Amino acid sequence: MDRRMEEVFGSMVFNDAVMQSRLPENVYRTLKRTMELGKGLDPSIADTVAAAMKDWAVEKGVTHFTHWFQPMTGVTAEKHDSFISPSGDGKVMMEFSGKELLKGESDASSFPSGGLRATFEARGYTAWDPSSYAFIKDGVLCIPTVFYSYNGEALDKKAPLLASMETLNEQTMRILKLFGTQASHAQAMVGPEQEYFLVDKSLYDHRLDLRLCGRTLFGAKPPKGQELGDHYYGAIKPRVEAYMSDLNEELWKLGVLAKTEHNEAAPAQHELAPIYTNAIQATDHNQITMELMQKIALRHGLVCLLHEKPFEGVNGSGKHDNWSISTDTGINLFDPGDSPNENAQFLLFMTAVVAAVDEYQELLRMSVASAANDHRLGANEAPPAVVSVFLGNELEEIVTSIITGAVYDPRTKEEMKIGVHILPRFPRDTTDRNRTSPVAFTGNKFEFRMPGASQSISEPNIVLNTSVAEILRRYADRLEQAEDFTSELNQLIREELTAHQRIIFSGNGYGEEWPREARRRGLMDLRTLPDAAPYFVSEKSVDLFGRHHIFTAQELIARNEIYLTNYCKVLRIEGLTMVDMARREILPAVQAYLKELSGLAVDKQKLGLSAAYDCRCITRLADLVEELDGAIDRLNGLMQQPGNEDHQQEAEYYRDQVIPAMEALRKVADQLEERVDARYWPFPVYSDLLFRI
Ligand code: ADP
Ligand code: MG
Repeated sequence: MDRRMEEVFGSMVFNDAVMQSRLPENVYRTLKRTMELGKGLDPSIADTVAAAMKDWAVEKGVTHFTHWFQPMTGVTAEKHDSFISPSGDGKVMMEFSGKELLKGESDASSFPSGGLRATFEARGYTAWDPSSYAFIKDGVLCIPTVFYSYNGEALDKKAPLLASMETLNEQTMRILKLFGTQASHAQAMVGPEQEYFLVDKSLYDHRLDLRLCGRTLFGAKPPKGQELGDHYYGAIKPRVEAYMSDLNEELWKLGVLAKTEHNEAAPAQHELAPIYTNAIQATDHNQITMELMQKIALRHGLVCLLHEKPFEGVNGSGKHDNWSISTDTGINLFDPGDSPNENAQFLLFMTAVVAAVDEYQELLRMSVASAANDHRLGANEAPPAVVSVFLGNELEEIVTSIITGAVYDPRTKEEMKIGVHILPRFPRDTTDRNRTSPVAFTGNKFEFRMPGASQSISEPNIVLNTSVAEILRRYADRLEQAEDFTSELNQLIREELTAHQRIIFSGNGYGEEWPREARRRGLMDLRTLPDAAPYFVSEKSVDLFGRHHIFTAQELIARNEIYLTNYCKVLRIEGLTMVDMARREILPAVQAYLKELSGLAVDKQKLGLSAAYDCRCITRLADLVEELDGAIDRLNGLMQQPGNEDHQQEAEYYRDQVIPAMEALRKVADQLEERVDARYWPFPVYSDLLFRI
């Protein structure tokens, strides 16, 4: 197994080992430096690199290349070009120039730009991002690129992520220098745990809602859900097992370190976690993972659902974003270490995260907001919509003693002095003790649990990187001026923890009291995307992202427009799908059943038998049919209203009018499902979807 793994792993990646063996030494070194510094590629070596890449790919049977990018749709995009060019003698040769490697032009008009791309200038450009390796997927050489407009505005999710890595590096290094570091570079490391559902393809095909919306819009609660807890970490079914091993192998070829897999809490729900890597690669890899998960499921007669809330009443799917900062010398800055100096450094970085999460909680919330994820957040199973930080008992005790100046170690009876005393060792929280916490410190990393399963992890990591960089910037400004570093550090940490203590919460996030308590603490409870969106374009947001060169005000407005329009579009498709299914599938089915019941009632009466039961059933069903018809009309009426040009108001309309009408329609339909003969019901129900694999 290990030997084979060695051959398979990364076999489709133009990685460091391949570069080293195929590039002239000086070219390799120049390229390597470019990658480490996150700079653009030196054009003088582009032709050589391109030729080596092409030769490597052609040897593997590849004929096409594509600039692979991550537009604002959230899924990756590619436009294939072939290597073939005429050689003049009626034959062709395989060519790939440095220019083609470096820059591509693509019609940007079909990608969302939030108004950044004027219609007269529909072109978009893609440029190689050398910090990500090229790879071969489906027989095509994929070159990871950033995507920007004619005027240089970012049209993708990659460029701002790269910029956020840069600013985090810069500010982290300022702090590390004060502690006397050996390191010269620091970066965010991310391990995203991906949850998903698998359903049988033949059942899926009969559900219009699953096919068009990725989630069920109707469905009564099945007799069995997840209450027995028998699926979580349970034995994996053979068909799922086969899928997982197929998926792992394909991911390994692409250098994705898919490692753990297990069943999740809900029936038919599973999780895949890769070994963590830098945030850029983790983002690329997660996009590839989601794509392959869906593609490979089909080979097994399955469909992989990445929707945040495919089924009501059972857990939704998230993507825990495990985040830390590590240096090129291999130090994880959230590892408390053993010496007073390491402890002090750890406490400062931990404080910075607590402060960043508190100060920019609304931006973190917005970074995970979508019509789909709004169903999940706060739904008594996922983290609540209120952002808070869980530190664990030991660390929280230390924080309290720092704030109050109280004795932290009962044995020594001494007040804690950061940088002088050694922290007690606290155990790694590997047990996920508090699953309700949106941000949890788990021993040597922070786990941001709000991102949705289908989302790109780019946005949440942009906000984490940038907000922490901003806090570190302020700390560095202050500490660089300090006359006595240790005493200034002590004071800074105490002040900061005091100021941001309100965000620390280790209680039950699902508890009824928490939203009230959170409000008392002044924390925000932003339940939906339209609630959070205004903060994304606030002065505070413009100031943060502008200062760190992530987004201009115009780019923020454009992105906000994309998020808001997308929210409306998703709900519109869902609303229309409900109307369609209710009118063309549910109503006719109920009518047919009613006809059978009425016929039977008449027959019974003819025979002089009692038809009381039949009449009760018929009356109840007929009443529900009237109700259903009314609910369809109401929802359909709302969908026919002319749209509001103001994106914020339009989104609020969908939130306040359309969603309640959808819920009302579903309620009646689900009651019907519980009363109609199963043979008449027009599509597979929850117990089929969740338990027939
Ligand atoms: P579990 O949650 O099952 O105990 P871990 O917490 O070790 O497992 O890992 C969960 C995810 O977090 C994995 O993707 C793992 O690679 C990632 N991870 C572990 N350590 C770090 C770290 N220092 N920084 C970022 N991600 C990490
Ligand atoms: Mg975990």
